[in-house]
Amino acid sequence: MDQELTIYNSLSRQKEIFEPLNEGVVGMYVCGPTVYSDVHLGNCRTFVSFDVIFRYLMHLGYKVRYVRNITDVGHLVGDADSGAEGKIEKAARLMKLEPMEVVQMYTNGFHEMMSIFNTKSPSIEPRATGHIIEQIEMVQAIIDNGFGYIKNGSVYFDTLKFNAANKNVYGKLSGRVVEELISESRDNLKNQDEKNHPSDFAIWIKADPSHLMRWNSPWSVGFPGWHLECSAMSTKYLGTTFDIHGGGTDLKFPHHENEIAQNHGACKCSPAKYWLHTNMLLMNGRKMSKSDGNTITPTQLFTGDSPHVSKGYSPMVVRFFMLQSHYRSTLDLTDEALKAAEGGYRRLMEANKILQGLSSSNTGTGGNLDQEINGLIDQMHLQMSDDFNTPKTLARMFELVTKVNGLKAGHLSIDEVQKSTLDRLKSTFQAFIFDILGLTNELSGANENGENLVDDLMAIILDLRKAARTNKDWGTSDKIRDSLKELAIQVKDDKDGTTTWTKN
Ligand code: AMP
Ligand code: ZN
Repeated sequence: MDQELTIYNSLSRQKEIFEPLNEGVVGMYVCGPTVYSDVHLGNCRTFVSFDVIFRYLMHLGYKVRYVRNITDVGHLVGDADSGAEGKIEKAARLMKLEPMEVVQMYTNGFHEMMSIFNTKSPSIEPRATGHIIEQIEMVQAIIDNGFGYIKNGSVYFDTLKFNAANKNVYGKLSGRVVEELISESRDNLKNQDEKNHPSDFAIWIKADPSHLMRWNSPWSVGFPGWHLECSAMSTKYLGTTFDIHGGGTDLKFPHHENEIAQNHGACKCSPAKYWLHTNMLLMNGRKMSKSDGNTITPTQLFTGDSPHVSKGYSPMVVRFFMLQSHYRSTLDLTDEALKAAEGGYRRLMEANKILQGLSSSNTGTGGNLDQEINGLIDQMHLQMSDDFNTPKTLARMFELVTKVNGLKAGHLSIDEVQKSTLDRLKSTFQAFIFDILGLTNELSGANENGENLVDDLMAIILDLRKAARTNKDWGTSDKIRDSLKELAIQVKDDKDGTTTWTKN
């Protein structure tokens, strides 16, 4: 952990030096999906961003406990629908399934998609319905501390009373002023008139008898408010105060603002030290939205079965495309940008393959080129440590790709590069491409551990071809070349006697 890491903290609206509460360990909570429909690309962008953050923290040597929840109760249907129906419950009714069947189906789909994008599993993946007792206890603590009131079996958070006692904590994250706030909260819209003030929000909601998802509580048979689950589960698994809390910018208000209020209200302390927010995914310059057809599913993107793309793009090309923008910038998905990402991804993977095959016998001092390479490697670390700036890290990597290609082509001299520098470049590229950026090599089938079955098999095939050529067995050597061509694999014999291959 020699590298100083700075993180943009949404709460202070500035970059801060990252100092974990306990040396060497990091607690990170990220709001997970609401599992009432297929995971969409916007969600994937957010989870890929936090996957890179998780991976980089581990690369820096931290022991990370990464908690990402599954929202399976409490998240209510938005303003368009009247009443207080939950998203899961509505999907269950429409599909004639048990709510838990809906939850299981979309949780499975979510896990599959996370694995397709090569994201690492979180350390703990708690479900809201598995933590009803903890949520009831938190509501009770909020009431006991004087910040919750009961109306007709529902419990509301008293934002005015809370702010009077807590130096205007409520509104700090999202920049809202409580007194002016017309309630934007997505809670029990049917019962707005039960609130003392429009900015108050429900922490326990009394359920109609027709409601499928409801539990006994001291106040009514009902269900928890959506924001409560994250307060209860982050506290349970990371403690009352922990290091990082993340989610998309759309969650800043009301979700995260309410979470902070609940944690303060129950535990009398601020939950997370650093709040990180990922920006939204757009398509063709506009918000991705189902209602006006400006949307594409991950599967459609992979198969190319959509009017928005001219062809299919592989999951690693899409992941690479996501990494080309910073997590705090919006990301605009267009066919042209994906095509460019595909070219970039291939160039990076091919250069890494070439790099791993280079060797230098220079054990003396290096020249300018040596210094340039070391400088660019330092820059890669610095950029990643500057609020996880993946686009700038990739820009430095592509400067190094040009150097690698120059060394291979002979424009640059390998004799100018010390063996130790070349080794450093090799291991840094391996670590950044596979461990930190989380890419896999789709071009040659390498897995995350660097095991490369396709490369190994190709080496055997090319050896057989070489032996055939030495024995002037042109029939066999041509057959090998033609069969590989059918698989879109090009074999090239270089002047120095080496043979390389590429796949189109
Ligand atoms: P949800 O399933 O709607 O609760 O969202 C799960 C996560 O995806 C949250 O962290 C959201 O902020 C994030 N998210 C939702 N829509 C988008 C989007 N268009 N772009 C990026 N992240 C999003
Ligand atoms: Zn949450």
